[in-house]
Amino acid sequence: ELPQINGLVEFEDVKFAYEDDEMILKGVSFTAKPGERVAIVGPTGSGKTTIINLISRFYNINDGRILIDGHDISQVTLKSLRGQMGIMMQDSFIFSGTIMDNIRYGNLDATDEEVIAAAKVVKAHDFIMSFEQGYETVVNERGDRLSVGQRQLISFARALLANPKILILDEATSSIDSQTEVLLQQGLDELLKGRTSFVIAHRLSTIKNSDKIIYIQDGKILEMGTHDEL
Ligand code: ATP
Repeated sequence: ELPQINGLVEFEDVKFAYEDDEMILKGVSFTAKPGERVAIVGPTGSGKTTIINLISRFYNINDGRILIDGHDISQVTLKSLRGQMGIMMQDSFIFSGTIMDNIRYGNLDATDEEVIAAAKVVKAHDFIMSFEQGYETVVNERGDRLSVGQRQLISFARALLANPKILILDEATSSIDSQTEVLLQQGLDELLKGRTSFVIAHRLSTIKNSDKIIYIQDGKILEMGTHDEL
């Protein structure tokens, strides 16, 4: 069991291969302090998704250690590990049901008022209220009635309700209008407050607002620092 965490994440010389032959991460080391915002950037195929997959232990590493609050994640139960993490992949997961239920999925005990409060914090409330049925609007798995930005705002509200110490986000690459981008940036700022976060960042605004940028190339960290330093 991983006890209640603060969100310190450490990679110690992590080596990893999906298949035996080709090392994908060739010795990756970094520390993310509790509450720190980390942006992961680098060319396609460099290992960004692999790093975030390893934090939530979707795969076991070949060498090195990954520690959370000093606990080796290979030694704790997956349930206790993932129960303290929020994971938001690019294609924000929407199921068929109301927007209310989609957000409540982050915490099934949440009241309607708590769902609405979470949506307000991450700036999702206004677009939801622009639908005739508001929070009772029914959406489907493909999120047909929702834009990419709106889907992401719903996933932000859901993540806020779940209230994890560590958040992992693969930022959507799809083009969104600049108004939605501002909204997403504001929503994200609220969501990430007080959490350790790892964002595969595609927008310059996200990168600028990070505390630490990890630039990865060919499975190795090439540079690490703040936006001003790099
Ligand atoms: P992108 O920006 O394109 O999403 P990325 O930096 O996230 O790229 P990864 O997805 O981490 O890159 O992939 C790193 C390398 O690992 C690539 O060469 C990729 O082909 C390989 N790879 C990724 N997933 C698997 C898998 N499940 N099995 C085998 N190889 C994989």
